[in-house]
Amino acid sequence: MARPGTRIIQAKLVLVGDMGTGKTSLVLRFVKGQFFHHQEATIGAAFFTQILSVSEATVKFDIWDTAGQERYHSLAPMYYRGAAAAIVVYDISTMDTFARAKKWVQELQKQGEEDAVMTLSVHTKLCFLDTVPDWLVSCLVYLCISCLIMGGNPKLVMALVGNKSDLDSKREVQVEEGEEFAQENGMLFMETSAKTAENVNELFYEIGNTLLMLI
Ligand code: GDP
Ligand code: MG
Repeated sequence: MARPGTRIIQAKLVLVGDMGTGKTSLVLRFVKGQFFHHQEATIGAAFFTQILSVSEATVKFDIWDTAGQERYHSLAPMYYRGAAAAIVVYDISTMDTFARAKKWVQELQKQGEEDAVMTLSVHTKLCFLDTVPDWLVSCLVYLCISCLIMGGNPKLVMALVGNKSDLDSKREVQVEEGEEFAQENGMLFMETSAKTAENVNELFYEIGNTLLMLI
């Protein structure tokens, strides 16, 4: 329960990454403090909430765990729309999942850009009551895309997570590889273990802290 006068923010957070990387396990560790060796594949909607005290504030996370869409390597718009943060998960013991994580980052960046362009086009049309010629709208949209490609989607806080750090003896992805990719893409980076709980609370704390600094 938040103390009276405490600043409270609500943040939608989505988890993406290949099946089996431990997305559901990370959420269950964070929300319930539990871990299952035979975690069942997520089917249907998977939505969790958790409250975390961050500095002098309280962050209420609305967590959307991807439920089967990993299979199709793309996300339904309802998952990422309005998201304040995204966690992209790979498994440090499987190189393929790291390659896929990079694709997920591109996917999130692309969807953020498309959303912004769509919003801008609609707003331009609404503001000028359709008196704006189409070519001008196209120019504005083009400008917007260029800015976004250069600067990325500044609103979405993204974290790259190498999960299963307890499997160090089977490691295929080096810490430096994760760090470097995260840095290049302006993401937070952490290696976690849903099994031992290493860095799980720290991950959500870091995300909460970054969100607080942005608003
Ligand atoms: P998801 O498909 O990404 O949601 O992955 P799950 O959470 O269903 O986990 C897939 C499998 O990996 C399950 O058997 C989990 O028990 C296991 N797993 C998840 N996290 C860890 C971890 O940190 N360490 C180890 N050793 N196994 C994990
Ligand atoms: Mg799952």
